[in-house]
Amino acid sequence: GAGARQKAVKKPELLTFEDIGGQDRAKKELVEAMDFLNRVDEIKELGIRPLKGILLTGPPGTGKTLMAKAAAHYTDSVFLSASGSEFVEMYVGVGASRIRDLFKQARTLCAKEEKSSAILFIDEIDVIGGKRDGGQQREYDQTLNQLLTEMDGMHSEDHPRILLIAATNRKEMLDAALLRPGRFDRHIEVDLPDRKGRLHILKLHAANKPLNDAVSLELVAEETYQFSGAQLESVMNEAAIYALREQAATIHQHHLSLAVDKVMMGEKTDREAAQ
Ligand code: ATP
Repeated sequence: GAGARQKAVKKPELLTFEDIGGQDRAKKELVEAMDFLNRVDEIKELGIRPLKGILLTGPPGTGKTLMAKAAAHYTDSVFLSASGSEFVEMYVGVGASRIRDLFKQARTLCAKEEKSSAILFIDEIDVIGGKRDGGQQREYDQTLNQLLTEMDGMHSEDHPRILLIAATNRKEMLDAALLRPGRFDRHIEVDLPDRKGRLHILKLHAANKPLNDAVSLELVAEETYQFSGAQLESVMNEAAIYALREQAATIHQHHLSLAVDKVMMGEKTDREAAQ
């Protein structure tokens, strides 16, 4: 409805690659792509296709949104974001016109903020870009077609330049049309963090919290196999809540252990309890 439209564009937050824990390879690949973006003239000289779309793939909560924001900061670009689900509407054509609006907004915002480029982040791209099967027409085919049309109309000499970053955790579901050269032809995997990555993420989220000197975040990193960044953020937050409950001035190891258990048991039950 009208509410979703309001939410389609969010203000950028000043987020850098340093604020993202782990993901060393993904960060490196993204920085390389961004450096590539900055060398428009050379790229034109060499006849290289301009970079239009980057696809971030990986499980939920691993930092794909953070990566897109950091990329915008790194390139001094305007940042706009939307989620695939915001384009699914009952009425034919509404999704497509929202896509048009998003590109228009990117250009307007660039002019207003005197930026020469915009990064347009589309989360859950699979919602609009899922495989189209044969003759079966879906309402949101028009949305996908509009996105492809916008991308095909982008050129390296455009001012401002627009780069699309899309995220999905179901890459195999995407329509081949999206992945073709000149569209989302660069893929970066944003996987669950390894132990070292988890430690890094825990440290980032512990920075504003009073940790007891005896606490070992290394131990927490070991206990949180297959946790996502979002879950690790939850662990730190829940640990602080346990400390508060016990009126402890600092967070102790047992608060962290309780928090790990709680997050492992599932955030779904938490959310239900909160409602
Ligand atoms: P989704 O696919 O569910 O949208 P996502 O991959 O886009 O997830 P983010 O929205 O970027 O994940 O991350 C959610 C939150 O989890 C972040 O705001 C941050 O607090 C925390 N987080 C996730 N990954 C990291 C990371 N690598 N470093 C630091 N914090 C992280």
